[in-house]
Formats: sequence, C-alpha cells, structure tokens
Amino acid sequence: MNKKVALLFLVVLSLGLQAKPIKVMLLTGQTDKYHRWDITSSYLEAVLKQEKRFVIEKVLIPAQGKAFDEFVPDFSSFQVVVLAMNLSDWNEKAKSAFENFVKKGGGVVMVHEANNAFPTWKEYNKMAALGGWGNRTERDGPYYYWKDGKYVTDNSPGPGGKHGERVPFVVNIRDTEHPITKGLPTRWLHQNDELYGDLRGPAENIHVLATAFSEQASGGTGKEEPVLFTVSYGKGRVFQTVMGHTGTDYADSVEDVGFQVTFSRAVEWVATGKVKQKLPADFPKESTILLKKLNQLK
Ligand code: ZN
Repeated sequence: MNKKVALLFLVVLSLGLQAKPIKVMLLTGQTDKYHRWDITSSYLEAVLKQEKRFVIEKVLIPAQGKAFDEFVPDFSSFQVVVLAMNLSDWNEKAKSAFENFVKKGGGVVMVHEANNAFPTWKEYNKMAALGGWGNRTERDGPYYYWKDGKYVTDNSPGPGGKHGERVPFVVNIRDTEHPITKGLPTRWLHQNDELYGDLRGPAENIHVLATAFSEQASGGTGKEEPVLFTVSYGKGRVFQTVMGHTGTDYADSVEDVGFQVTFSRAVEWVATGKVKQKLPADFPKESTILLKKLNQLK
C-alpha cells in the first residue's frame, strides 16, 4: 500500500468510527410568567453544543394566534425533542404528530416546567409519568416518592405539585447502573433550585434514577422526591429532570454542572439507549457545587 492509499484508508476508517450525529429539536418559546424560556434554552443549547455529535435546531412556539393554531413541528426529522416550555395547549394535529413521534421510537427530554405542561392531554401525561400544578389532583394519578428504601404509590387525595424555597439540595442516585447515571457520585449537591414535590400522574413505566429530600423547613414536602427519571412510551424513551428553574435574573440551577451533565447524557440516551460522553473529572461532590455560566460553556 503506498502512502496516499494508506492515508485515504485511514481517513475513511476514522469517518466510519465517528459517532453518527444526533438531531435534536429544542422546542421552546412559551412559558408561564414564572419562567424564562430564553435563559433556559440558551443554556441547554450551549450545553449540547459541547458535544459535537448533537445537531441542534431551536424551534420557537409562536404566540397565541393563527401561527400558533397551525403550529405543527416536524418532529419526524429529529431523533430527540427537548421541551423547555409549558405553554400553551397545542392543536390536535401537533399532539398526534408528537404522540406518533414518540410511539415510533423518538426521544423526549422534559426540563423542569415542561413537567407542568398540558394538564389535560392524557398521552402527554403518560409520557411525563408525573406532573404538577394545572389543577392536577388524585384524578390524574397517585403521588409517587421514595420511602423506607422503596417507591411508594400514594392515592391519597390532594393537589399535585409543590415546591419550597430555592435552596441547594443533595441528589441521591438510586440507579447507579443506568447509562445516564453510571459513574456519577451517588450523592452530589445541586445549586439553588425549585425541588418539585407532591407530583402526581399515571406513573406507568416510570424508572427513577435519582431522588432528593424536600425539606419542610424550607417549605418542601418532607419527602424524598423523584428528580431524574425515565419513562418508556411505545418504542420511545422519555427522560424528565425536575431541575432547571430559571426566572428573571435567576439561572443558578442551569449553571449547575450536575444539571448540565445529566441533561446532556439524557439527550444521548433517549436517542440511542447508550451514553458515550465522558464524565467530567470535576463533577460536583456531596458538599461542593460547581457552576459553569454561559460564557464558560464554549
Ligand atoms: Zn420553576
């Protein structure tokens, strides 16, 4: 083999070995007044851009009106849809396109307030497994949390969705073998965030990866609440992180490296069922928070 042929051979080989791109739709643009989709989506995009494998397209949900009434995203051109939104209720065409996308094997990552979206859309709530607010009650499914070493399904009546003050909390990894959480410290500290609790939903096909204790002293539920979990829906994989609250001048939670890393790994996992990303050596520990602001995510 002469040198030119050998070089060509190497180039072809290395192209073949490169992981296939993953097309990600970052669907955002509308949230309630408590959240800032523009801040959240800037962080999510910057985090994903660190992995060259992700090809990201930000799609903005139009404001109420004709464009919104006719809004049907082209889900089928993507492998993953990241939801950083919680408004408004979509038209039937958009809903059925989304259901088909997931049923056929599409991946979904729901970030924080996406948990509260679509309280009356039955299939969305199956995908989410658990949700809060939007008048969710016992009609929408049980509470679901970790107690005495196991998950509890609690049918007692009451509203779905509660959080206390924004405080740092320790994330307890409950599945150390799942591709998303494998190799993470079993306990690590997450920066000030709304720790969602008392969530309710169908909770079918849910698999919790991590929980966190919601302290009553800071207005929480006094329970060990699910914070990272997966849900299977048809052939599709869904991941929900309750972390990631943003507001005006408030981005602490999305600056948190623990949030960023678990989010990025989840996007890969819902697309492929595997995680090839390396865990950063400086991943947070039980008593140390690590932040990366937008200008550090380059
Ligand atoms: Zn929030």
